[in-house]
Amino acid sequence: MTALTTPREPYAVMLETQAPWAARDGLRITRVRPVVTAPEGIPLVVVRVDTSDDGLYGLGCATFTQRFHAVAAAVEHHVAPMLVGRHPADIEDITRMIHLSSYWRGGPVLNNALSGVDMALWDIAGKRAGMPVYELLGGQVRAAAPLYIHAGQATVEETLDQAGQLMREGYRNIRLQVGQPGIGTYGAPGRRGGYPESPHPDGWDVGHYLRTTPELFARARQELGGEVGLLHDVHSRLTPKEAILLARSLEEHRLFFLEDVVAPEHYDRLPEVRAASPVPIAVGELLVSVQDAARLVLNQSVDLLRCHISAIGGLTPARKLAALCELTGVRTAWHSPGDVSPVGVAANLALDLTTPAFGIQEAHVYPDAVCEVFPGTPNPVNGHLHPSGAPGWGVDLDERLAAKYPPVTHLHERWAAGVRRPDGGLEAP
Ligand code: MG
Repeated sequence: MTALTTPREPYAVMLETQAPWAARDGLRITRVRPVVTAPEGIPLVVVRVDTSDDGLYGLGCATFTQRFHAVAAAVEHHVAPMLVGRHPADIEDITRMIHLSSYWRGGPVLNNALSGVDMALWDIAGKRAGMPVYELLGGQVRAAAPLYIHAGQATVEETLDQAGQLMREGYRNIRLQVGQPGIGTYGAPGRRGGYPESPHPDGWDVGHYLRTTPELFARARQELGGEVGLLHDVHSRLTPKEAILLARSLEEHRLFFLEDVVAPEHYDRLPEVRAASPVPIAVGELLVSVQDAARLVLNQSVDLLRCHISAIGGLTPARKLAALCELTGVRTAWHSPGDVSPVGVAANLALDLTTPAFGIQEAHVYPDAVCEVFPGTPNPVNGHLHPSGAPGWGVDLDERLAAKYPPVTHLHERWAAGVRRPDGGLEAP
């Protein structure tokens, strides 16, 4: 491609990536770059888009914590050169161009790079208008977003104690996970050497999990009462038939939702699982395509859709899914644990506040170090996330502080590489 520098626009632009229409004013994108920081020990990737208007910039979440180097390289070497010289208002065209320009589309690395740009452009649009992004999307349809939060400990007693404490802090919906022998179930500690007679003593046993999970929820209803919303994350480890068995065994405990019952390799079996399940089925954090997400909604695979929105390309695709959910009776529950940056949380919240399809929002309480690196970080208050009213996302990035927390290969990746059954066979994590 040809690089062209003109005296009027003192930055290199690619002719092929420029819009074939006149911009309304002289505002231009001047620089696009990734910033990686790990103030909580979890690598977070954020894209910063600067403009020709001094002080006007946007931030977007591009966090694929297990492959952060790859996302940063995609932004720096492939995406950024296409955007210099574009007007930042052309969000739909710019994001389609990024998506189509690689010819082979999508995947979590390129979608996260795309999301970083997409969200940054929405941030700029809000700042230009002096409006929060949720106002650009049509405005609030609720005052705040009710949250669910995680309780997961080694024993049932400890898990329910934690859940009780969280309820006293104002949470009305709790995800319960409990430890298992071996490596443990997802979201709770295991007991190393749990199967000493097995080829792999640190393995995870599906039979034990299917027997004990209903016991956890029976105890939870006894001790926490009938009003609290209870949720559970299988984390992809079951076959479709096992998923149906688990869902039926949980019917009397009235779960708010049962999450990720099968691995993405088996999503074509979700319609039969959902049809046979007496509890709502929530799926989506491992989706890396907005079209695949739409298929889950349209073929009746899910009661709640819960994408990691940077993994499908950002706010622009996610708001289309929210509209599809609204029209088809599906609810949203966007993925939002510690491997979503505070900028990504603000994007989740903008969707939560503006869509009638909202179901629930996952919570993460960011520690002080994250809040200092990202001024304006949304944190829970009395079990809810509230709008800040600030223009754009209302979240900033202190790059001087961010540099104090360099990223390292994270536990998430090492953990996912080591989930095995007692016979030693690898399991979906
Ligand atoms: Mg999950």
